[in-house]
Amino acid sequence: MQYKRILLKLSGESLMGEQGHGIDSARLNDYAEQISELVKAGVQVAIVIGGGNIFRGLSGAAQGFDRYKGDQMGMLATVINSLALASALDAMGTRTRVMTSIRMEPVGELYAQPKALDALNNGEVVIISGGTGNPYFTTDTASALRGIEVKADVMLKGTRVDGVYTADPEKDPSATRFDTISFDEVYSRGLKVMDLTATTMCKENSLPIMVFNMDVKGNLMKVMNGEKIGTLVK
Ligand code: UDP
Repeated sequence: MQYKRILLKLSGESLMGEQGHGIDSARLNDYAEQISELVKAGVQVAIVIGGGNIFRGLSGAAQGFDRYKGDQMGMLATVINSLALASALDAMGTRTRVMTSIRMEPVGELYAQPKALDALNNGEVVIISGGTGNPYFTTDTASALRGIEVKADVMLKGTRVDGVYTADPEKDPSATRFDTISFDEVYSRGLKVMDLTATTMCKENSLPIMVFNMDVKGNLMKVMNGEKIGTLVK
């Protein structure tokens, strides 16, 4: 295995699977199986999930919601997704701890780095929900923050695309995928790996980001085995 401790970022939108809204149980179980495989192999796994399948503050604001409250709704959406993933993992016998960035026991325990580290060292999957706890941030930034805090070796950003391309491959058929790319090149080419706040946190704290397609079953293990899928930003 390439990495001993990972921060896995899952997008909320991917959880919709084929059904186009909410949480698709087939997709959820697929993720839980891939994660359980890693845990069995001894990898320490911390997870941050988005909430885009349920609510996004920015889209809400466009519909007339107050941004502050909309972002709080988005953060609560990430808690719902985290509980769903924990329940799928628990059903497979994989031990989980749901932590929340906003106090809401007994839904989850309030996140604190030492508690997360203890749980990771005990082989529990630590799902850190509620984003950063602050509006105007994203779950990518929460992933960068928590990844740095728990001293992850890498942030694995599971998406629906198989890496970072020179241009949008859906619009430009000549676009090619990078195997690796530097943070500086991401900036100079204006590539949208994550939002800039998240990218800058990773750069400044030397947390590499691996972008890969999590929706193809088996890919998570392939990334861990060092197979050349996805793009490593470092
Ligand atoms: N959010 C927030 N602060 C955070 C993280 C998330 O306010 O630290 C809110 C924000 O409204 C965001 C929503 O939660 O749109 C869901 O997160 P995100 O859009 O990152 O989810 P994803 O795109 O990964 O599904």
